Amino acid sequence: MTTRKLLLLPGDGIGPEVMAATRTIIDWFNTRGAGFTYEEDLVGGSAYEAHGVAISDAAMESAHDADAVLLAAVGGPQWDDVDYDVRPEAGLLRLRKDMELFANLRPAICYPALADASSLKRDLVEGLDILILRELTGGVYFGEPKTITDIGNGQKRAVDTQVYDTFEIERIARAAFELARTRGNKVTSMEKRNVMKSGVLWREVVETVHKAEYVDVTLDHMLADAGGMQLVRAPKQFDVILTDNLFGDMLSDIAAMLTGSLGMLPSASLGAADPVTGKRKALYEPVHGSAPDIAGEGSANPIAMIASFGMALRYSFAMTGESDRLDQAIAAALDKGLRTPDLMSDRMTPVGTTEMTDAIVAELDAAS
Ligand code: NAD
Repeated sequence: MTTRKLLLLPGDGIGPEVMAATRTIIDWFNTRGAGFTYEEDLVGGSAYEAHGVAISDAAMESAHDADAVLLAAVGGPQWDDVDYDVRPEAGLLRLRKDMELFANLRPAICYPALADASSLKRDLVEGLDILILRELTGGVYFGEPKTITDIGNGQKRAVDTQVYDTFEIERIARAAFELARTRGNKVTSMEKRNVMKSGVLWREVVETVHKAEYVDVTLDHMLADAGGMQLVRAPKQFDVILTDNLFGDMLSDIAAMLTGSLGMLPSASLGAADPVTGKRKALYEPVHGSAPDIAGEGSANPIAMIASFGMALRYSFAMTGESDRLDQAIAAALDKGLRTPDLMSDRMTPVGTTEMTDAIVAELDAAS
């Protein structure tokens, strides 16, 4: 039987609650022969309390060794004043850096039952399923020089540098085409080649990679500003949107709001494919934080964390059928009118974390 190794990092606040919910879902797939094994470790404030650091070397080793890492959330007011190097977020940053996770995936999926929670009209977002792929380790957030200089006469000059090398664009482009093959087989690459040299190179490299290796995937280009406009005008025209760190930061937040609540948004960060096994290092996590205001109440929405595991099924384990099945079970539980407090609206049935999870399991049972 295939063994699939997971590292679970529940973290802080509601993290352990939504991770427990996700363990229930993993266990359900194991009863159907999925063969997941999992280890748990500490990250964030909980790791700081135990080890004085935001993630231990041993936990990092387990992360490198796992086929996929699932992380819930880190942080909380009790750690606001700890040293910068050991603050809870440092655990997250070390994972991203040491595992070289350069590709950030943010899907925007709109479940029909929640279409009215979007700021756009129902028919524009109902059934929406797009994926923003953002380059995460290069571009203007990291480029040098990055300075503020006094230039005299009471004036200062701020400089940020947008810089991309060919290899950085090649590897994110490859990731986009490969992801597109597992979905709608279409990539829309967004940059600003009309005013930025990095945009000119971006387009050139994406086209070269496409021509050489991925002609079966449809490729379009769009200027990033026009892309933002199209995302709110007609978001369903997209499948995979490929873009750099800066534009991806903005476009993924715009796309997130198409779907409604923070408790619904999963994400993934992927590294390079291993040349021998083809496997990528991968970290899956909800977009939301540790929600200290509701921690311990049993009311947290587990869907973003469960859907993050759904992304792991799809992107780390090529279990597309199982991932679709999990998405359908989430949609069906929502269709029944079950709502955690963050999603609550008129005439719906209020439920907590455990009831929502049990409802998703019941839908998985019903469909099998
Ligand atoms: P947050 O995402 O934790 O919470 C924002 C609001 O959304 C809160 O009202 C919270 O109750 C609600 N919320 C979030 N997730 C929810 C869920 N699953 N179900 C129901 N309601 C949910 O953001 P914040 O309050 O700005 O930050 C709280 C802590 O989390 C801070 O310490 C922050 O640094 C940390 N944080 C961590 C991450 C991460 O681990 N990736 C991300 C963002 C914030």
